[in-house]
Amino acid sequence: MNSSPAQQIPGVYHRKIGDIVVTAISDGYNDGNLDILRNVDADRAREILVGAFRPVRRISINAFIVHTKVGPVLIDTGTGGSLSPTNGFLIRNLAAAGLRPQDVRSVLLTHMHPDHSAGLTNTETGKPFFSNAELVMHQAEPRYWLDDGEMARAPNDRVKAMFEHSRSQIAPYKARTRLFVGGEVLPGIDAVFIPGHTPGHTGYMISSAGQQLLIWGDVVHVPEVQVALPDAGTNFDVDYEQAVRSRKKILDQVATDRLLVAGMHLHFPGFHHVARQGDGYLLHAEAWHHGL
Ligand SMILES: [Zn+2]
Repeated sequence: MNSSPAQQIPGVYHRKIGDIVVTAISDGYNDGNLDILRNVDADRAREILVGAFRPVRRISINAFIVHTKVGPVLIDTGTGGSLSPTNGFLIRNLAAAGLRPQDVRSVLLTHMHPDHSAGLTNTETGKPFFSNAELVMHQAEPRYWLDDGEMARAPNDRVKAMFEHSRSQIAPYKARTRLFVGGEVLPGIDAVFIPGHTPGHTGYMISSAGQQLLIWGDVVHVPEVQVALPDAGTNFDVDYEQAVRSRKKILDQVATDRLLVAGMHLHFPGFHHVARQGDGYLLHAEAWHHGL
C-alpha cells in the first residue's frame, strides 16, 4: 500500500503571548497576478518576489483564535469559499484545532471585505456559522458598507458586489453586533485603528504578562513587495492615500518597537517581525515555536 501523504496537514499553529494562546487558522490561499497593485513598477514588484523565492502573488488567507479568559475569540472568518477553490477551509481547520463554530464567543472583524467576512454566514441556508457569537467591529465599517450612497458610487460591479456580499454576511448577526470606536474590545485585546484600506480597518493588539502581538489585518496584501515599497497600495483600498499613511505608520512602529506581528495575508502561520532595510522594510518570518 502506498502511504505517501496526498495532502498537507491542517493549517493550525499555536503561539503563546504571555498567558494567552493565539491559534493561527488557515483558510487557504489565493493565487493571482500583480494587477491588484497600485503605484509600483510591475517589473520591480516581480523582481522582489523572485528574489524572495515566492510564486507570483500567492497570498495566504489567515484567521486567528485568541483563547481569552472569557472564551475563544475568532478574528476574521476567511472567504467562506467565495473567492476560489483554494480557500474556505476555516471551519475544517477550526475542527483540527479542537473547536466547533458554536464554541466561538466573539467574532472580531478587521474589516468587511469578503476574504475576511464571507465566512460568517452560510450562503446556501442564510444561517450564521457562529451561532453563539457576538459580532464585533469598528463602527466606521458597517457605516460605510451599509451606506446606499457609497454603494451607488462604487467604481465597478466587483466593488458593488462586495457591498452586497458583506451586507448579507453580517445580516444574521444584527441583534448581536457590537460596534466600537477604539480601546479595549475584550480582556487582553485592544483595537488599533488602521484606516484607509477600508474606513474602519482595525488591527488587534493582544497583550498579556508583558508580551504583545499586533494582528494587523491587511496592512499588506503582497507582503514582500509592500513592506519593501510601502507606497504600493491595492485597487481595493477604499482610500489609497490614507492606506499608505497607515501602512507607513504601523511599519515604523513595529520596526521601532521590535513588535511581533501577525497578518491575514502574511504567509501562514503569519507571525513575523519587521526590520528596516534601505528606504523600506524587510519581513522576518518567525521560526517554529517549539512547545508553547
Ligand atoms: Zn484581505
